[in-house]
Amino acid sequence: MSSHFIVECLDCGNRAPFFPGSPACPNCGSLWREARYDYANLSYSLPVQLAGRPFDIWRYRELLPVRNPNPDLSLGEGGTPLIHAASLGLMLGLSNLYIKDERQGPTASFKDRQAAITISSIKEAGITEMVCASTGNVAISYSAYAARAGIKLWAFLTSLVPAAKMREVAIYGTQVVKITGSYDQAKLVAEEFARQRGLFLDIGSRSIPSVEAMKTIAFEIAEQLTGLLGPEQKLSNNAPDFPWRTPDWYFQSVSGGLGPLGVIKGFSELKSMKLLGKVPKMGIIQVEGCAPMIHAWKQNRETAVPVQSPHTLIATLATGDPGRTYTLLRQKIKDETSALFESVTDEEAFRAMHLLAKMEGLSVEPAAAVSFAGLIKLVRAGKIKSDEVVVINCTGHTMPIERNILGEGWEHTIDMKAKGMEENREEGLLAALSNVGIDKFPRIAIVDDEPDVRRLIRRILQSQGNYELFEASDGKSAISLIKKERPNLIILDLMMPDVDGFSVMDALQKEKETQDIPIIVITAKELTTAEKERLKGHIQSLMQKGDFLSDDLLDEVRTLIK
Ligand SMILES: *Cc1c(COP(=O)(O)O)cnc(C)c1O
Ligand SMILES: [Zn+2]
Repeated sequence: MSSHFIVECLDCGNRAPFFPGSPACPNCGSLWREARYDYANLSYSLPVQLAGRPFDIWRYRELLPVRNPNPDLSLGEGGTPLIHAASLGLMLGLSNLYIKDERQGPTASFKDRQAAITISSIKEAGITEMVCASTGNVAISYSAYAARAGIKLWAFLTSLVPAAKMREVAIYGTQVVKITGSYDQAKLVAEEFARQRGLFLDIGSRSIPSVEAMKTIAFEIAEQLTGLLGPEQKLSNNAPDFPWRTPDWYFQSVSGGLGPLGVIKGFSELKSMKLLGKVPKMGIIQVEGCAPMIHAWKQNRETAVPVQSPHTLIATLATGDPGRTYTLLRQKIKDETSALFESVTDEEAFRAMHLLAKMEGLSVEPAAAVSFAGLIKLVRAGKIKSDEVVVINCTGHTMPIERNILGEGWEHTIDMKAKGMEENREEGLLAALSNVGIDKFPRIAIVDDEPDVRRLIRRILQSQGNYELFEASDGKSAISLIKKERPNLIILDLMMPDVDGFSVMDALQKEKETQDIPIIVITAKELTTAEKERLKGHIQSLMQKGDFLSDDLLDEVRTLIK
């Protein structure tokens, strides 16, 4: 049967047709192979074909290793939105920060792409039973697609996977095998089980359908960015035109490395088809307690030293031994682009998780938050330029919020059985509600002429919950607002037209009722010595726009309001 693609062995160069049931190279037995398509032809035909198709993973079918896509297996995979992260971008000083929201896949992680293409591929090969090892999300996603395809699935999970995720796997009718040990051990047991029974085994990042599935993240990002920002900017006047847009950076939290491997392949295929001029720089983020790739990259090693026992609560990212995937990823990065590798602690990831939910309305799982924590760290280290276009993969949704993340004291409780409630319901209820009322909360005035900045600060304070807020958009109305409301604290912008922040401070100094109100100055500019002199003695705190996180501001506010 002729096909629209062929697989090439990375070890001996042998080219052969693809059969999902026999993944090894027919010449040398290597499992490391890559799919190749007719890029010269697709360079002309693809843009035309795409024009009339829905925005889902199958719009790229000429570049996917499935011969006859079966609509009956689809759950609406791919086609996730690219969201402008306005608040987070403002905090980090990045005006072009975009979130590829992979939580919006059918089982709420980017593994849905992998599962959709893999299950389609083995279904058309007539395979009816399979084995996979997983840190959680692969098993959930494969389970859903296997259920649709009528394929029996054995999922080998490490016992570190949260119980709620295990149950999610089981509800689809998957055979769950829990391994008390590491993910790498679970992989070995799964392999042996499949070998003994002669079952199809998912080979992770060596699997052709899986790598090909992850490519589509790159395709979608390029198409979406083109829609938002227009075609790629030329590097020089006589440089060629490219119809699509590449981000400057692609960020992802990494466990086994399948995602970035596929995404780089996707961008370089677009380059081969002359739709793009470059592959983005990669931001590869791992969790500190299991960061074999970060260590290897920083030591400039070709192979990673496996982490025997990962120390992290974030089981999704607990691949201790990335094997040859790291070597391959490193080679691709060196050949096609460049990268930053960074690790973050569990704690930093949990903080980023809070931040994303409060500031952008995205509830993500800790593994997804890891890449955001990494981005924050690298921005603060001055490694990302403020005008660069950054796309960050929001890899998965949290379900449910694990207990250790939220900490204590996050809820308001009203006990309807408490004393007094039964006898006098109305009155008791009012009394109970007044405990959650706002009348006792500290009052804060926010003064800034930029609506975006006011919204950001309001959101930061609101998310903490316990402040009454007032806003003024210019110096003149700020002075009268402050005189009238007598807030406990003022958050003040310096650069405003007409009456600026300095003049507001002068006016407040003159009145007895307002001269003692603490002020936090937030400014977008570097101050001159003369300006710093003017501020002396008047303000309690100074923050630079684009260079503070919500918790930094909250800490300041809490210190100043007793
Ligand atoms: C699998 C997974 C990752 C890690 O991705 P790899 O490409 O396999 O390294 C990150 N986040 C989430 C939510 C995942 O499910
Ligand atoms: Zn070979």
